[in-house]
Amino acid sequence: MRVIGLHADVLVATSRIWQTTCTIVRSAGSRSGGSTRPGTSECFVIDSPVLPDELELLPAVLERAGFRCSGLLATHADWDHLLGRLAFAGAALGVAETTAARLTAEPGTAARQLRAFDDEHYVDRSAPLSLGQLQSLPVPGHCEIGESELELHPADGHTADGMAIWIPWARVLICGDYVSPVEVPMISSGGSRDGYLATLRRLEPLVEAAAYVVPGHGEVLEGARAAAILREDVNYLAKLPDAELPIARRGEPQHAIHAANVQRVRAGT
Ligand SMILES: [Zn+2]
Repeated sequence: MRVIGLHADVLVATSRIWQTTCTIVRSAGSRSGGSTRPGTSECFVIDSPVLPDELELLPAVLERAGFRCSGLLATHADWDHLLGRLAFAGAALGVAETTAARLTAEPGTAARQLRAFDDEHYVDRSAPLSLGQLQSLPVPGHCEIGESELELHPADGHTADGMAIWIPWARVLICGDYVSPVEVPMISSGGSRDGYLATLRRLEPLVEAAAYVVPGHGEVLEGARAAAILREDVNYLAKLPDAELPIARRGEPQHAIHAANVQRVRAGT
């Protein structure tokens, strides 16, 4: 697992599986000498790495940086982003209302899919996944963190649910499964091309204002590179079912995602 610092208050850990990202953010000015009053500092862990050793290491990563987890957030309900509780047992998980609805409608799905992944890859995990207490957040909206606020923006289209998170004081956008340098747009079950395009249009001004964009999968992007990928993705989606894959994303798994996209668009979603 790779861990990099984007800002004094923002760290990103990247999983060895699917380059799934996990962003750790603490309230503005939490470091000593900052303006925050003692006792008002908070820290959220957004999404999660996938492998057991990575999850086991996560509390030590926070501790070494002087961060203390006060809660979990997830960008959407796909299981590979929901594993924070395996690192921070007992922490509450905050999600968009749309994600809470999906998790409530499909109880046990994330845990079952995690088990299937572990079975397929012979991964040993000491405890099963339990999502615990869900906190449903209004989106668009804000989420308080210490004396600061995170901005929450709707991000559906990949799936039926989701949110992107903007950290205003660090100019960092955590966008969930959009604007990925390693994965073409994936229209999953519950998602749609129109929804995906609307989300990209919504994210565009944030991407343009961002110092860094953290995609759900793949390395952290500087704003200008993320804007170029966003334009590629708009172009790809607009041209479906006849679209060509972007040059840097043409491996076999991308062709499989593309074939599924073509089928969904032909079927009218
Ligand atoms: Zn994902």
